[in-house]
Amino acid sequence: MKLKVGKKVDPKKFKLGQIEDTKKLHKRTANLIKSYALKADVILNSCYLCGEKLPDGSFVTIYNFDYSFCSSCGHLSGKKRLSDQNLQKYYQENLDYSKTYTDATQIQYRLKNIAQPKVKFVMEHIKQPKEGVWLDVGCAIGDVVKVVEEYENWSAIGCDISKPSIEMGRKLFNIDLRQENISDFLGKNPRLLFDVVSFFGYFAVTSSPLKDMELAVKHLKKHGYIVVGDSNADSFSTIIQKSYPEFSTRHILPPNTTHQFTKKSIEYIFKKFGITPIAYWNFGLDFFELLKYLSLMNNSFQDTPLCNFLMENLNEFQKVIDKKCMGDYFIVIGQKTK
Ligand SMILES: [Zn+2]
Repeated sequence: MKLKVGKKVDPKKFKLGQIEDTKKLHKRTANLIKSYALKADVILNSCYLCGEKLPDGSFVTIYNFDYSFCSSCGHLSGKKRLSDQNLQKYYQENLDYSKTYTDATQIQYRLKNIAQPKVKFVMEHIKQPKEGVWLDVGCAIGDVVKVVEEYENWSAIGCDISKPSIEMGRKLFNIDLRQENISDFLGKNPRLLFDVVSFFGYFAVTSSPLKDMELAVKHLKKHGYIVVGDSNADSFSTIIQKSYPEFSTRHILPPNTTHQFTKKSIEYIFKKFGITPIAYWNFGLDFFELLKYLSLMNNSFQDTPLCNFLMENLNEFQKVIDKKCMGDYFIVIGQKTK
C-alpha cells in the first residue's frame, strides 16, 4: 500500500476568530450535546465492525457520551447513540445546510481545496483511469460529483438523504444527485455497477457500516475501487480531546460521531469484504485545533506573539503530526480483488 502524508494549507485562510464567538460556539455546542445525551437510548456493548465486546469504562467521554477502542480491530465505538429517528431530528433541527453553502466564495474554495485534491488522489492511484462511472455516497451538495464530471469520459452520481443539500447541489452544478440513502438508491437500480464508490465523511455518522460497505462492494465492477475519507481516531486531535474533552467542538463529536475508523480498523473492514488497500493518505488540521483549545483555555492567548508565531508556522508544526500518520483525516483507496 502506498503511503502519502500531509496537505499544505494557507495559514492566512485559518483564523481563530473573535474569542467571544469561539466561546459562544463552544458553550452552545456543549449544551446542545448534553441535552441530546439524555435522549441517546441505544446502548452498545460491542464493536460496530467486528462485534467484539467493548472494554468496560471509556477511553474518552465527550459531553456524557462514552467512547471505547475495540481491542480486536482497533475501531473506536460510541457506547450509546441516538435512535436513527432521533438522529434525523437532530440534523433537521441543528444543521442548516443552506446557510453553509450559499456563499459562492466558500463553494469555490471547497471545490478547489477539498474536492479536487481528493478526486485527484484517487485518479492518480487507480489503474486505467481513462473512463468510468463513480458513485459518491453521502454526497452533500455534490462537490465530488462535480469534480469527477470534469474528467473526460467520467460520469458521476451522488446520493444523500438531505433535501436542502441535494436541492442546492442541483441548482449550483446541474449534476445527477439523488435524495436517497444508498440502500434505497441501489435497491431501485439493482443493475447499476460502478468503477468507484466513495464515502467521504459518511461512515462515522451511519449506524450500519457493514451493511453499507457490503452493498457498495456488490455494486462494484470487477477490480473496481472503494474510497473512504473519514476522521482518524488514532490522531493528535484525539489526544487533545482525551486531555481536555470539555472543550470539544469537532472531531469526535456526538451525537453525529457514532464510531470512528483507525488505519487498523479500515483495513479490517476492507479485508472482510475482499478489498485490498492500495493507497492511504493521512493529513489534518490538528495543530490549528490545538490553538483553538489554547484560546478557549486562556482568554488573552490570541493576542500573544506566541500565538502569532504558531499560526504563521501551522504547516511546519502539522508536519510532525503527519509524519506519525496521526493527522485527523485519512483517505484510503481499496481495490476489489475477489
Ligand atoms: Zn472491533
